[in-house]
Amino acid sequence: MLRVGLTGGIGSGKSTVAAALAEHGAVVVDADRVAREVVEPGTRGLAAIAAEFGPGVLVDGALDRPALAAIVFTDDAARQRLNAIVHPLVRERTAELVAAAPPDSVVVQDVPLLVENGMGPLYHLVIVVDTPVEERVRRLVDHRGLVESDARARIAAQADDDARRAAADIWLSNAGTAEQTRAAVDALWTDRLAPYEANIRLRRPFSRGAPRIVDYDLTWPVQAERLLARLRLAVGGAALRVDHIGSTSVPGLAAKDILDFQITVPTLDDSLADALSNAGFPRAHGFDSDIGHPPGSPETPKHVHVGVDPGRWANVHVRAQDSPFARLSLLFPAWLRADEGARGEYEQVKRAVAGEHATIPAYGDAKEPWFNQAIQRAEAWATATGWTAG
Ligand code: ADP
Repeated sequence: MLRVGLTGGIGSGKSTVAAALAEHGAVVVDADRVAREVVEPGTRGLAAIAAEFGPGVLVDGALDRPALAAIVFTDDAARQRLNAIVHPLVRERTAELVAAAPPDSVVVQDVPLLVENGMGPLYHLVIVVDTPVEERVRRLVDHRGLVESDARARIAAQADDDARRAAADIWLSNAGTAEQTRAAVDALWTDRLAPYEANIRLRRPFSRGAPRIVDYDLTWPVQAERLLARLRLAVGGAALRVDHIGSTSVPGLAAKDILDFQITVPTLDDSLADALSNAGFPRAHGFDSDIGHPPGSPETPKHVHVGVDPGRWANVHVRAQDSPFARLSLLFPAWLRADEGARGEYEQVKRAVAGEHATIPAYGDAKEPWFNQAIQRAEAWATATGWTAG
């Protein structure tokens, strides 16, 4: 099962995109609909609200929304009491609907306040539907009958674009025609959502071909933050730490467009394998140890998990806290971040060997000679500066 969070400002076109995804077979769970359902007449939710706020919030046995809104609009404590009733019921009902979806589903959760409520890590992917504000106002007034000032006030109360961009794995423009958006959704389904779902279900790491070095990408840190949050949620307290490591964690350094992460655990075992698989990072066998430095030193076991989102290549290295590579994987990028000269050398080496060696393992071996002397320099830097992993 692939879980997708779908969000965007009011009037951006979430419902329109959700409908297009449903036509491809996605199971859509609409948060607004669930929120209404859990307070319908005869529900526990409505009974709890009436008990909390009095019979004045009911009309003909149903929720009198304007009356309730008048109470909670100006009173933060009252709003918190309302949320304390409604939110757990929404979570529970949402979990039921997700659990009822077939195991090979793409479940799309339409959550208007996903960004505001920091819910991105709950999903394998977050899609943000974007339409310029003026166009949203026009559509809300023309198609949904809102008064213009009301439309603008609702837009202003929501997350801004920077916050939405940071949360978005997929930024889907709906500024053009409905047909253009439809075509973008079709491509997204075919190229990313459907294969990602199958890769997770089949625990299928996929082949990524030859390494290619690209210029440093300013969006790597924010992309890494999204994956870090998901990994941390997946492993919970079982990990000592989860870090963004590797070349993409060194600002300014050209690198392969693969984000690397390290999960440091007390002892290396299989206890995190299922959680990581379900989060979109199945185990890749055949990379079960780090090769010692200097050459000839003993190998140290590790587990490698790979991200199987076709749109975002990522590797996760699980290492025991006493593996020398757990520390080295933090030290090396820290040294490169601090030492511009070393960064330049490393970039040259990477570009040179990437041209000559077609496969990723061969590329790794070719970097070894430079790497072996660089480690000694990194260690000297750590001693001189008092660096610790923190
Ligand atoms: P949301 O669910 O994000 O609030 P909707 O999907 O309801 O937004 O879209 C808002 C309004 O704009 C709807 O009436 C919808 O039919 C219309 N709409 C959506 N996408 C387009 C588009 N690309 N061009 C024109 N109108 C659109």
